[in-house]
Amino acid sequence: MRRLTREITIGKDSSSRIKIGGNNKIAIQSMTTTKTKDVASTVKQIKELEKLGCNIIRVAVFDLNDAKAIKEIKEQINIPIVADIHFDYKLALASIEAGIDKLRINPGNIGSIDKIKQVVDKCKEKQIPIRIGVNMGSLDKEIEATYGRNARGLVESARKHVKILENLDFHDIVLSLKASDVLTTIKAYKIASEEFDYPLHIGVTEAGLTFNGLIKSGIALGDLLLNGIGDTIRISLTDDPKYEVLAAKELLANLNLYDKITLTSCPTCGRTQTDLIPLVNEMQDFINTLPNVKLHVAMMGCAVNGPGEAKDADIGIACGKDEALLFKKGEIIKKVKKDEIIPTLKQEILNMIEK
Ligand code: SF4
Repeated sequence: MRRLTREITIGKDSSSRIKIGGNNKIAIQSMTTTKTKDVASTVKQIKELEKLGCNIIRVAVFDLNDAKAIKEIKEQINIPIVADIHFDYKLALASIEAGIDKLRINPGNIGSIDKIKQVVDKCKEKQIPIRIGVNMGSLDKEIEATYGRNARGLVESARKHVKILENLDFHDIVLSLKASDVLTTIKAYKIASEEFDYPLHIGVTEAGLTFNGLIKSGIALGDLLLNGIGDTIRISLTDDPKYEVLAAKELLANLNLYDKITLTSCPTCGRTQTDLIPLVNEMQDFINTLPNVKLHVAMMGCAVNGPGEAKDADIGIACGKDEALLFKKGEIIKKVKKDEIIPTLKQEILNMIEK
């Protein structure tokens, strides 16, 4: 059962507006790795992520030139954009001025109440939500002294920021409570989902290189999503952000929370007579370019066990020596020569999508 949270709208233009929380689809987020002020590179990266299925993009706003660049970036992209700001309220105001759709800033770090109020008033006027993003790495010192560096500390740190906004009658809030430790992350979000009704952006922070990050995020986000927790997700990786988006889609699809083409492939073994790995990689690259529909494709290394092992697949191939069997739902349809494996499978997938 999905835990119901408040519904929040991100973005003003109807073309890029997205609703999160409530019963809305879980949104996939990522963050650019370019210098935001380098508009051409930033737009190029966002457009690539957009094409892969990214629903919300965050950019770092490090200085005024970054903030000003948001206007030009926004004109060229079709998904809502979030400004990631640490401390400087002037950068928040400049980002709002440039048309930002959402701010990620912790009000308790801005400084005087007057500065906080200036930002909050502008957000109210322009209907811009604020994500309070609490990280173990930047835990509030007072909170740490009282509660320690643990899940409760993260929750209480978030609460401190939330209270500041609520006291200013601002409720357009999204929360994240990230640690690099998987179990702490899970616990913090579970407590937060009991104690707040704001939408939760879930993720493991500084999860590491792709291999490590995928495992960490798979465990933490998998557990949370299975418990109905999470309204937006980011799989943070020390890698090209396109892998964050692809991994998020894969995770959600495996939890039946997203429609996409899933590709299963066998690990290969001593029975394999075709070099399966490059074929699977080529097919995955192709699938990544296709629309998001629910379809199960299988690529198996042998004709003896392959079709049977992949009975649940909608379509698949089982390789033999210099040829492969094409099968649908475990039933063999035809035999194809080695060079024809990829083109035939691609065409069959396209036919099934168009149906
Ligand atoms: S499908 Fe065939 S080649 Fe692949 S792991 Fe199973 S037995 Fe081995």
